[in-house]
Amino acid sequence: PQARLHPMVDAEKPAHVKRVIAVASGKGGVGKSTVSVNLAAALAKLGKRVGLLDADIYGPSAPTMLGIDGEPTFDEHKRLNPMEAWGIKVMSIGFIVEPGTANIWRGPMASSALRSLMNANWGTEAEPLDVLVIDLPPGTGDIQLTLVQKLKLDGVVVVSTPQEIALIDARRAAQMFDKTGAPILGVVENMAYFADSSGVKVPIFGSGGARAEAERLGVPLLAEIPIEVPLREACDQGRPLVAVNDRSAAAQAFLDLARRI
Ligand code: ADP
Repeated sequence: PQARLHPMVDAEKPAHVKRVIAVASGKGGVGKSTVSVNLAAALAKLGKRVGLLDADIYGPSAPTMLGIDGEPTFDEHKRLNPMEAWGIKVMSIGFIVEPGTANIWRGPMASSALRSLMNANWGTEAEPLDVLVIDLPPGTGDIQLTLVQKLKLDGVVVVSTPQEIALIDARRAAQMFDKTGAPILGVVENMAYFADSSGVKVPIFGSGGARAEAERLGVPLLAEIPIEVPLREACDQGRPLVAVNDRSAAAQAFLDLARRI
């Protein structure tokens, strides 16, 4: 019984998945889901077999951001079949629970829901997923800790805006992953700047903070994603920007991020 308390002992990795990469943030609203969805779409565009597991119990957004309707079916082994959109296999906690029920979630409930999502029919021996991207719930509370302890992650990407308050939380998130043994691959700075009509980069939420934070953590700054109207519109319309317009600076930044992951 003692050994089971060790975080890595009962950590699981889904079958037929080569790499599991989690996307985390210290708080909500910093663009964690936007980064998860576009990272997955960018990996698909680079020819990878990609899955996206939306584990954000507080606000599952993959179905909306990818324009997915309907419910997943089960395969002959009673595993969930991920839905497919934009070349991505998608499972979302939103497919299996009522919206607005996050207030009743407890760590063990979240873990068992996550287990059914994780054990979905992601691939086969002949055609495994290259990467499974997991969109984690924001924050560093008990539920998050329980979840990450159950996952055998190959790496974590921490998303933050340039504002110091968000960065302080990202530091706590980083400490949480350190404890579970998952390597932090780096920091993605979202809403890094807004390019005005003459191309001047306006640092609306400040600048330099994410780079300094990445240095403090001893990890690279993996990407600087600008604030873009087309990115916001694409999210709202259920289309990943990377899949519909790969010329914008944000789309380019997501593709570069995917090449570095
Ligand atoms: P989180 O997952 O961290 O809660 P979301 O990814 O849901 O945050 O983003 C919150 C909102 O901000 C969404 O409406 C999204 O479209 C918008 N958004 C996120 N990043 C950007 C960006 N770089 N430029 C424009 N809009 C953005």
